[in-house]
Amino acid sequence: MKIDGHCHCGSITFEAEVEPEKVWLCHCTDCHMLSGSAFRAVVPTKEGAFTLLSGEVKNYVKIGTSGARRLHGFCPECGAPIYSTSESDGPKVYNLRVGTLRQRW
Ligand SMILES: [Zn+2]
Ligand SMILES: [Zn+2]
Repeated sequence: MKIDGHCHCGSITFEAEVEPEKVWLCHCTDCHMLSGSAFRAVVPTKEGAFTLLSGEVKNYVKIGTSGARRLHGFCPECGAPIYSTSESDGPKVYNLRVGTLRQRW
């Protein structure tokens, strides 16, 4: 389904195509810290299915316990988390933060 969303201050807007049944909750300790909550609701979308409509996402590079570098995109104005993705080239998967979506099921 087609979804759209924005950060809290509204400077970042985006749209994407997602499968609603793929929403999942991450309980890892990094998500505790980065979200300030007990879990984080996420839905994946692919490069090409994700369009940034306005604003500029700032990336924080998180190095996981496996050594993998993950980009955590957030709004530099209001700090709202937008997505996480891999740092590598090629078709990326963007794990969108469900709380920023207008269609929050
Ligand atoms: Zn913002
Ligand atoms: Zn996590």
